[in-house]
Amino acid sequence: TMAFSEKEAALAAAPSDAPTVFDKIIQKEIPADVVFEDDKVLAFRDISPKAPTHIVIIPKVRDGLTGLSQAEERHCDILGYLMYVAKLVAKQEGLSDGFRIVINDGPSGCQSVYHLHIHLLGGRQMNWPPG
Ligand code: 5GP
Repeated sequence: TMAFSEKEAALAAAPSDAPTVFDKIIQKEIPADVVFEDDKVLAFRDISPKAPTHIVIIPKVRDGLTGLSQAEERHCDILGYLMYVAKLVAKQEGLSDGFRIVINDGPSGCQSVYHLHIHLLGGRQMNWPPG
């Protein structure tokens, strides 16, 4: 079988308004290991973790937020709330030494799912600059 790296997958994924796999996770049509949920956001373990703790935090309603580059002023409340939930989940996961949050945007940012999300990574030493 042909090797198809995640990087290549991200480069191939054109920005789009089409429904994504995250809609299916929100609708519970496909299973996810959910670590935090309320009426506005869902946080679940990444299926392909890049650190001992790797959680994806998403708004339940995309409302045009395919990526951060599509943010409008009306999104400020949910964007702030997603950041706050990242902090809550980091604490819940015991990441008391620190953690990394990442938002990939667009092909150059290596975004592969066009439903805005924050990555929360922790449980190991992060490096700078990122790849
Ligand atoms: P992006 O590459 O867009 O910044 O991040 C998308 C993330 O979603 C990737 O880290 C990828 O592993 C994760 N992901 C994609 N599909 C699924 C899935 O079906 N379940 C879970 N839990 N994570 C997924």
